[in-house]
Amino acid sequence: MDLNLTPDEQQFRDEFRAWLAEHVFPAKTVEELKRWQRTLFEGGWAGISWPKEFGGRGATLMQQAIFQEELALADAPHLIGTIGLSLVGPTIIAMGTPEQKARYLAPILSGEEIWCQGFSEPNAGSDLASLGAKAIRDGDDFIVNGQKIWTSFAQIGDWCLLLVRTDFESPKHKGITCLLVDMHSPGISVRPLRMMSGDAGFNEVFFTDVRVPVTQVLGKVNEGWTTAITALMNERANLGTGVQVIFRRNLHALIARSHTIERNGKPASADPIVRQKLAQAYLELEILRMNTNRALTSLSRTGVPGPEGSTQKLYWSEMNQRTQQTAQEILGPYGQLSDFDGGIWQYSYLRARGNTIEAGTSEIQRNIIAERVLGLPKSY
Ligand SMILES: Cc1cc2nc3c(=O)[nH]c(=O)nc-3n(C[C@H](O)[C@H](O)[C@H](O)COP(=O)(O)OP(=O)(O)OC[C@H]3O[C@@H](n4cnc5c(N)ncnc54)[C@H](O)[C@@H]3O)c2cc1C
Repeated sequence: MDLNLTPDEQQFRDEFRAWLAEHVFPAKTVEELKRWQRTLFEGGWAGISWPKEFGGRGATLMQQAIFQEELALADAPHLIGTIGLSLVGPTIIAMGTPEQKARYLAPILSGEEIWCQGFSEPNAGSDLASLGAKAIRDGDDFIVNGQKIWTSFAQIGDWCLLLVRTDFESPKHKGITCLLVDMHSPGISVRPLRMMSGDAGFNEVFFTDVRVPVTQVLGKVNEGWTTAITALMNERANLGTGVQVIFRRNLHALIARSHTIERNGKPASADPIVRQKLAQAYLELEILRMNTNRALTSLSRTGVPGPEGSTQKLYWSEMNQRTQQTAQEILGPYGQLSDFDGGIWQYSYLRARGNTIEAGTSEIQRNIIAERVLGLPKSY
């Protein structure tokens, strides 16, 4: 990838930078974050990688990289509809019926409808194909029963991309179906789970005799594994670009803090060890940025995200844990306070632990890289 901007790319950057300067605002609550996504949508800046016919911009890969960098530079809030934008939307575009595309894509872009991903179960995480939530055909509906767990955004979710078992005889990968489920349907109950960071951002979700019309199947009945893999590849490919915005903002704040917090009567930033650690964190973030551009280049060749997304997922999740460790070392006891800098350091340190579990654990990413990228034999 040529990293120098062409005149067109410079124009794209300048246009978005000027738009951000006028429109960006701080957003924290669900309502504020929804308003931020709506603002992006109205400005034509939501889902820029999506094809134009589905409301995106058909942005080139370089434009997507520029877009993320400008969001980070402008200190823009994160996108609350991230599961819809990065995972569900691209999967509906790839596998949905014309009716599904017409119904679901626009509200994903505008943030009007929030999606969650109902894949994991108490006995099916890494080994997702062992899932046991079931759907049994009854006329024009499926009747869904079972439990999901760790479902992020289910507490505010309008829709769920749900994996269920529909064939109980076939090998486990062959009897799965993917459904688009209205989270407001009778028979669904959501129980938030509190993480050690204090967040209750993920949930247990229980399905009791929930009726889902057969028109809500995404992909084909009993071929939901293919749909799930498409969704997971999109998740891994897109998450890396999205988290950069948060990481960059976080590192800038840490560098600024290192000038004001004292060690041995001097600003921490004067300490050579602190300087080296900050430089290391900066370098690692730059590596993430460049590897993201490299992954985008590979995506441009094949058109679909590949297992290389696992390299990025593994890298950013472990990188963020290292950076948060550095933050705690620099800030000392202040880093543990919930009322210092709004508790961001304490929160970020604790939340980073989940990074190496969500969207597939580090061990699973290493297995994928070994087998599917390096072509090594399967582990036993
Ligand atoms: C913050 C957060 C948000 C999440 N959001 C969602 C969501 O929105 N929707 C959703 O469906 N899920 C979500 N998850 C769940 C996540 O996908 C699972 O936790 C993850 O896939 C691991 O599954 P598990 O927890 O069942 O652990 P297990 O699969 O039981 O793994 C336990 C340990 O064994 C290791 N292990 C398992 N199999 C192997 C193997 N073959 N080789 C080597 N090691 C192995 C794992 O790496 C791990 O260390 C979220 C998780 C977190 C932490």
